[in-house]
Amino acid sequence: MRLRIGSAALLGLLMSVVSALAQTNSGIDKLYILNCGEGVAGDISRWSPGVDVGKSMPMAENCYLMHHAQGWLLWDTGITDAIAALPNGQAPSDPRAIHWYRPKTLAAELHAVGVKPSDVKYLAISHTHPDHIGNVEMFPEATLLVQKAEYEWPNPLGVGRFKPEHPVKKLEGDYDVFGDGTVTIISTPGHTPGHQSLLVKLPKAGAVVLSGDAVHFKSNWDNRRVPSINADKEQTVTSMQRIADALAKEKAQLWINHDKAQRDTLKMSPDFYE
Ligand SMILES: [Zn+2]
Repeated sequence: MRLRIGSAALLGLLMSVVSALAQTNSGIDKLYILNCGEGVAGDISRWSPGVDVGKSMPMAENCYLMHHAQGWLLWDTGITDAIAALPNGQAPSDPRAIHWYRPKTLAAELHAVGVKPSDVKYLAISHTHPDHIGNVEMFPEATLLVQKAEYEWPNPLGVGRFKPEHPVKKLEGDYDVFGDGTVTIISTPGHTPGHQSLLVKLPKAGAVVLSGDAVHFKSNWDNRRVPSINADKEQTVTSMQRIADALAKEKAQLWINHDKAQRDTLKMSPDFYE
């Protein structure tokens, strides 16, 4: 009899552990894709040397806002909100690059889903090209999650890539943000020295890898093409393989940040993925 009571108690304890684990595993419950810019590339062979020379193409720029039981995380901040006020957008100095427009500000998009900049706990940044860090200082209290190699990458202007007073966690490799495996930064250097991508495991939609600029559009992914502007060609190829391995292991989808054709197939905020 005593043994039975003991078993029941043990079973109860096990049940509560299992339920706690289940809760931890579904720590992330929402992911919004925010329109963080729209553009037209003058010549997409910048990203595929010798291929599609002179071809122009629409480009997207996304930010991804996700809610976890431990707080909000924003992945990338897009082109600066200031571009929204320019009726003709921002023309690039190199006509082969991207002419950017901002149909909506990031501030307005956050407001539309009831999130204040001060609600954002983590600001994870794929890399420090201007179209990804345009609004970092809208979130002065959010902790930056950036690779040390990117943070310390010398800037041609001789200034830091982020304000020195901005809270930061400098990473050296992969990083499990919430400690439960639901949101994991994957180190994917090559496009820039400390470039990173993000693996997100959603309870219903399943696993997704957010590319950053590890690749710019699907045909370049399918053919493993390395843009001429990348910091390191060999690292880029290795990083693309790391992403391919993660996709296979996690049965994940690859969401390519700049791929407008793919974005057109996805649900945009205020709709969301669970
Ligand atoms: Zn880039």
